[in-house]
Amino acid sequence: MPADIRALINDRVESISDLNRAINLATWHADTTGDAEQRRTATEAKKRLAQLLSDPNDYRVLREAEQAHSGQAGTPDRVGPLLAREVAVLTRMYARNQMTLEEIAEQTDLQAEITDIFVHFRADLAGQSASENDINQVLAEEHDTPRRRKAWEASKQIGREAAPKVIELVEARNRAARRMGYRDYYSMSLANDELDEAWLFALVDSLAAKTDAPFESEKARLDRSLAAKFAVEPEQIGPWHYSDPFFQRAPADGSVDLDPVFRGKDLPALARRFYDGIGMDVGDVLFRSGLYERPGKYQHAYCEDMDRNGDIRVICNLRDNHDWMSTLLHELGHGVYFKYIDPCLPYLLREHAHLLTTEAVAMVMGNQTYDARWLTEIAGVDAARARELEAAAARASALESLIFIRWCLVMVNFERALYANPRRNLNALWWEMVSRYQLVRPPAGRDEPDWAAKIHMALYPVYYQNYMLGQLLSVQLQSAISRRVGTKSLTGMPEAGRWLIDSVLGPGARWHWNEMIQLATGSGLSEQPFVRAVQALKE
Ligand SMILES: [Zn+2]
Repeated sequence: MPADIRALINDRVESISDLNRAINLATWHADTTGDAEQRRTATEAKKRLAQLLSDPNDYRVLREAEQAHSGQAGTPDRVGPLLAREVAVLTRMYARNQMTLEEIAEQTDLQAEITDIFVHFRADLAGQSASENDINQVLAEEHDTPRRRKAWEASKQIGREAAPKVIELVEARNRAARRMGYRDYYSMSLANDELDEAWLFALVDSLAAKTDAPFESEKARLDRSLAAKFAVEPEQIGPWHYSDPFFQRAPADGSVDLDPVFRGKDLPALARRFYDGIGMDVGDVLFRSGLYERPGKYQHAYCEDMDRNGDIRVICNLRDNHDWMSTLLHELGHGVYFKYIDPCLPYLLREHAHLLTTEAVAMVMGNQTYDARWLTEIAGVDAARARELEAAAARASALESLIFIRWCLVMVNFERALYANPRRNLNALWWEMVSRYQLVRPPAGRDEPDWAAKIHMALYPVYYQNYMLGQLLSVQLQSAISRRVGTKSLTGMPEAGRWLIDSVLGPGARWHWNEMIQLATGSGLSEQPFVRAVQALKE
């Protein structure tokens, strides 16, 4: 490892951390207020960061340092493994940004245009402007099938607006990736994200095969109960009969309805009580967050660490229902991950081990609403009612993750095909995937870019596999916690929080993500705990 590599890293990190902070703050203001000026500021800062990371000389020096280090494997390294890891992390940041100024400008501008569409678009529902919350509310509550269908169709209007730009952006990303020597942008992104494509798609196929049978029987059972609820025949069940526009979540079929538990409740106070009980303080995060709906605001939820120095914030659009309770716990899961990373680590490693590991922790937290002790001690459900809910809730939770994994199979397979050929008939391909993995039939004659209505397709490219892997890891983490603290529940268990901080959150990015999982749970990422949980649905 060349001696001056430390100096190079220190120098570049100073600029990178300044730019990241500027990007995060401007994005935060743009997302909470819809301020176009702040959006432009964020876009400019993103371009400057991409330009910095496009420097071919830096990239060459970093690659040489990385190779020099790996060549001495096994010998005691005076610079230490932390520096080697910093070099590896920074090299990958450069690798994905080896672009020309024109390529950077083209991609960031297109991305900003699409962001604007997703932030400002409001669907037209029976002549009224409808937010995503409005549409989801119809899908959650409406019993009339034609009205549900109208709401579902409204949820897809944004697809038509976004699709041409998304295809343009996909092609721009591909052009740059191919010039850098990759097959396409998809394979480049996985490679620079420490994910092996062959491994990933072997897992995808294996998950599909192992969940085909349980999903088919659960889906049939679900459709029967939805048919009874909506007074239609099971074969008339359409995509609008599920409780969300993409059937990513288990629909309310009457078996367990947690919405009444949260009506009129102070969701942030409940979240705080739960996190306090596991020894994690989220008061400061909540204080800085933007939690409620307002005009022009970003409609989804996320958590961001503004500066890797304690300024952590969440965006939500809270309403007093189960979905938002679970989402708030989920986002705060990302929040505590950021917060409890060892502050002594260098900047480049003061980050989650991988996006999949922070998703897994967030999912463990978001899933707490299905836990009987959580329902009684945090949400104030009386004990008898909580025991009643417990079996149904455990089942609902397993079903929820099965439905989510099948949805992930659509997203992951579709996205790989999208980048392989963005000019094929994507509308038809989308419904082929939806029919294959979610067993949802397309409405007769439908030829719309429904795939482009999903925000990730445009703005969070090659991200969905992290949710899928995160879902598998969340089951693995949950069972590791149960083994350690002797109970499935985290509620009121500071030792569970302690273990998470020491073994999962604290190490940040100091190790390869799968090494961290191996050290924390005793084995690398495995689909087995998830598959076992799904198979238990039959019992
Ligand atoms: Zn998340």
